[in-house]
Amino acid sequence: MTVAFPAARTAIVTGAVSPRGIGRATARRLAAAGWDIGIIDLDDDASAEAASELAASFGVRAAGVGADVSDEAAVRAAVDGLESALPQIVALVNIAGISSPTPYLELEPGEWDRVIAVNLTGVHHVSRRVAESLAASGVGRIVSISSVSAQRGGGTYSKTPYSVAKAGVIGLTRALARELGPLGVTANAIAPGPIDTDIMGGTLTEERKAEMAADLLVGRIGTVDDVAVAVEFLLREDTGFITGHTLDVNGGLYMN
Ligand code: NAP
Repeated sequence: MTVAFPAARTAIVTGAVSPRGIGRATARRLAAAGWDIGIIDLDDDASAEAASELAASFGVRAAGVGADVSDEAAVRAAVDGLESALPQIVALVNIAGISSPTPYLELEPGEWDRVIAVNLTGVHHVSRRVAESLAASGVGRIVSISSVSAQRGGGTYSKTPYSVAKAGVIGLTRALARELGPLGVTANAIAPGPIDTDIMGGTLTEERKAEMAADLLVGRIGTVDDVAVAVEFLLREDTGFITGHTLDVNGGLYMN
């Protein structure tokens, strides 16, 4: 049985504070499409500010709270708070993430755990808590950002633990799709290629962008909106037959 989306519905977006990041662009795009927005990012004030800006710009309801996605108790408290402040949660977009450009043979102790904790276990913590609400209402969408790095074993900027975490996100997505599908919830991943944000060691120079674009079939690296539009698509009410999928948004860098 398919349960219809409620008229007022909230999407929780993690990692939506960074001004030039994928999360901020996604939150804006979803707000423009009528979603109310709950933001979870590291800093409490910055998350609340980003939410206020969305509410002012798009006339939606929005709230933001600080939580480190790798901290399960903090995540549960954050989602509890957003759930009580906003309309029914219908979607979760897992975007928070960190990069890790260290070569394998130079990995310092702790780096592996740090990257897996945020990029994979963090996705699990937020998904686990939000899935409880989605399953209870019988309708929902989960979209998590993986990376082409999962498919190609790195080769962009970040290396081993990042590729492993992002590959884990694809496995987690498929497992969630399997278990939550009968409960009315879809789960999909997006695997972006290089996107013009600040995560690859700071703002990209034109020279670096051109170097990265040389490997891409479309002659340019991606924009944050290239990813945001894919998220918006997978969150739509009428895309409920797509689940367990990894959508490549990579300019042809890798063909799956
Ligand atoms: P970004 O601008 O650095 O955004 C990442 C956001 O996540 C920031 O707002 C950051 O907060 C937040 N964050 C980091 N650690 C967190 C934690 N432990 N708990 C909560 N929030 C946390 O990077 P982006 O390029 O937009 O990346 C967004 C996602 O896309 C990441 O998962 C990344 O791996 C993935 N991705 C990016 C690319 C690319 O080329 N840009 C390609 C493939 C996949 P602070 O700013 O306060 O640290």
